Amino acid sequence: MSNAFRALAKQREAVPEVNPAQCVAFGCRCRATTSVEGGKWACGAHAHVPSDRWDGVSHKVSDHKLLIEFIDEMRDMERARQDWRGFAQQFWANSDEYCMPVERENAVPYQNRMRGELLHRVGLIAKRPAPRLPQVVKTRGFRFEGLVA
Ligand SMILES: [Zn+2]
Repeated sequence: MSNAFRALAKQREAVPEVNPAQCVAFGCRCRATTSVEGGKWACGAHAHVPSDRWDGVSHKVSDHKLLIEFIDEMRDMERARQDWRGFAQQFWANSDEYCMPVERENAVPYQNRMRGELLHRVGLIAKRPAPRLPQVVKTRGFRFEGLVA
């Protein structure tokens, strides 16, 4: 075994097992969604501020554990083709109806809105994110000429 290989093996032993999908900030249980300095990945909340403020953000984010679990659940349910919309409606009924998915709001934009909701609740963005609905896509320069009588 070469010295370089031995050094690499030793380095790997020293690194604890880390879930690569999890935010790199200490104490954060959020899913990593954004690339940050050093080729690492962080959640939207930690990516939003410089790393010297991460401890404070971790503390605030940890107060919203239920919302974080809800966002993960939405993702899992959508991937498993389960009724994420029905679950979300029940989840927010009688608590915060603004967070319910609106008609025609798709799964991924909804999940992104809930991630924005988390940023709002920890004080990183002032405005609550609004639902984003599918937009009509206009094709440019398309002429249909097939069925002209
Ligand atoms: Zn985080």
